[in-house]
Amino acid sequence: MADKTSKQPENVSGKWYVDTTCVPCNVCVDCAPTLLKFSADQSHVYFAKQPAGAAEEAAAQAALEICPTGSIGNDGE
Ligand code: SF4
Repeated sequence: MADKTSKQPENVSGKWYVDTTCVPCNVCVDCAPTLLKFSADQSHVYFAKQPAGAAEEAAAQAALEICPTGSIGNDGE
């Protein structure tokens, strides 16, 4: 389970976030390409945009479920 006290600093404010355990393996970006982006140094991904609407909420949920390290959370502020 992701830790909202260890969010990647680039996440935009909102309930969805990636924490510092991201590898990164890239599979979540394929699930939610409009929401998740690679950091400038390619060391992790982060939420560049919060979901807007049912389709993007579903994409974010799919990304959470596929993440092998449990690095995506939806209990942020
Ligand atoms: S699926 Fe998880 S570990 Fe892989 S890039 Fe996305 S957040 Fe990082």
